[in-house]
Amino acid sequence: MALWYISVWMDLSLSDDQALLRRSIREFAETEIRPHIMEWDESQHFPKELVPKLAALGLMGIQFEEMWGGAGMSAVDYCICIEELARVDPSVSLSVAAHNGLGAAHINMFGTDAQKRKYLVPLATGEKLAAWGLTEAQSGSDAAAMRTTAARQGDCWVLNGSKQFITHGKYGDTMVVMAVTDRAKGNRGISAFIVERGTPGFRAGKKEDKLGMRASETSEVIFENCRVSAENLLGEEGQGFLNTLQVLDAGRIGIAALSVGLAQGAYEAARNYAFERRQFGQPIGTFQSIRAKLVENAARVEAARLLTYRAAAIKDQGTRMTLESAMAKLYASEIAVRASEDGVQIHGGYGFVKDYPAEKFFRDVKLTTIGEGTSEIQRLVIARQLLAS
Ligand SMILES: Cc1cc2nc3c(=O)[nH]c(=O)nc-3n(C[C@H](O)[C@H](O)[C@H](O)COP(=O)(O)OP(=O)(O)OC[C@H]3O[C@@H](n4cnc5c(N)ncnc54)[C@H](O)[C@@H]3O)c2cc1C
Repeated sequence: MALWYISVWMDLSLSDDQALLRRSIREFAETEIRPHIMEWDESQHFPKELVPKLAALGLMGIQFEEMWGGAGMSAVDYCICIEELARVDPSVSLSVAAHNGLGAAHINMFGTDAQKRKYLVPLATGEKLAAWGLTEAQSGSDAAAMRTTAARQGDCWVLNGSKQFITHGKYGDTMVVMAVTDRAKGNRGISAFIVERGTPGFRAGKKEDKLGMRASETSEVIFENCRVSAENLLGEEGQGFLNTLQVLDAGRIGIAALSVGLAQGAYEAARNYAFERRQFGQPIGTFQSIRAKLVENAARVEAARLLTYRAAAIKDQGTRMTLESAMAKLYASEIAVRASEDGVQIHGGYGFVKDYPAEKFFRDVKLTTIGEGTSEIQRLVIARQLLAS
C-alpha cells in the first residue's frame, strides 16, 4: 500500500501538455472572464454566453471520453482546469465543476450507452447544461432523508417534491434527480432519474440571492406530477443514493481544486498589493508579519494542491478515493478560507470594498466548506475510513 502511494506520488510532476493546458486556461480566464467578474457578481448574472467558449476548450466535458463528446482529459487535468478558472472567478469554476462533476458525471458513470448518446453528448459538447438534485429544504447533510418521491405508473415514473440549492436549477437543460422509490428500503430505496427542462411538471422555483458565487446560478427546483419515461431511470432502481456517494467522491476533488485555485488567486492578489501599498515609507510587504502571512498561505496552497492532485491521480488509476478526496476537499477548502481572510487583512480597508478582488474571494470562498458536503461531513467521512474498527 505504502509503495503504491509512492508510485502515485512520484507521478505528480506535470507533463509539458499539462503545463500548456494550465497556460491556455489561465490566458482564457484572464481575457474572457476577468474583465466581467464584478459586473456578473453584482447583477448575479450567470454568463450562459460563455458556455460555447468553455466548450471550445473542452471544458464542458473535461473527463468524458471523446466518443461521448468529451475532451478525454485525466482527473489531474480536470483539477488544473477547475483551479485556473477559480483563480480568476470561483463562480464560473463552480458552474463548470457542477456541470462536469455532478450532473454529467452521474450520467457518465451510471448511464447506459443509449442514455450517454442522448444526454451526455450534448452536455459534454456544451450544447446543454447539467444540473444535479440531491439536496432538499429539510435534508442537506442527511441527504438520504429526502422526501421527493418517484412512483412507477405503467412505463413512466411520476416525480413529486422539490430540491433546494440546485446549481443551474433554472438554466440547466438536463437534470439528474434523486427520489425515493421505496421508502421502506431506506437509502437503498432511492433512485436517480434524468429529467429534461420543458418536461411538464418540472420547473425552477426561487433563485437564491447569495453571499458569494453570485454568477453561478442556484435555484430551487419543483416537481409536480412530473412524468418521465421508464428509460430515464439512471442506474439500477434503488441504487441512486449509493451511486451518489461515488459521484460525490469524485466531485469533491473538483471542489478541492476550486479551493486551491481560489486560494491561489487570493494569495496572488494579496502578494501584489503588499508590494504596491506603502506605509511608514516602505511597501507593507517588507513588514515581517505581512511576509509571514504570505509565506504561510503560499505553503498551505501548495500542500492543498498536492493533496488534491494525489486524490486525482488515484482516481486516474481507477481506484476508489473516498478518503483522499474527502481529505483534499476538507483541507483545501479550509486553507482557502484562511488565504481569503488573510487577503482581506493584507488589503486593510481596501480589502473591505469592491475595488479589489480580495473582497469577492472572501465572499465566494465560504461555499467551498459547505457545498458537496460540509467540512463537518468530510471529517465524518474521513473518520469512517480511518477509524473504522
Ligand atoms: C451555492 C450552492 C450550490 C449548491 N449546489 C448544489 C447542487 O447543485 N445540488 C445539490 O444537490 N445540492 C447543492 N447544494 C447544497 C449543499 O450540498 C448543501 O447545502 C450542503 O450539503 C449542506 O446541507 P444543508 O445546507 O442542508 O446544511 P445542514 O445539513 O442543515 O447543516 C447545517 C450545519 O450542521 C452541520 N451538520 C449536519 N450534520 C452533521 C453531523 N452529522 N455532524 C456534525 N455536523 C453536522 C453541518 O456541517 C452544517 O454546519 C448547494 C449549496 C450551495 C450553497
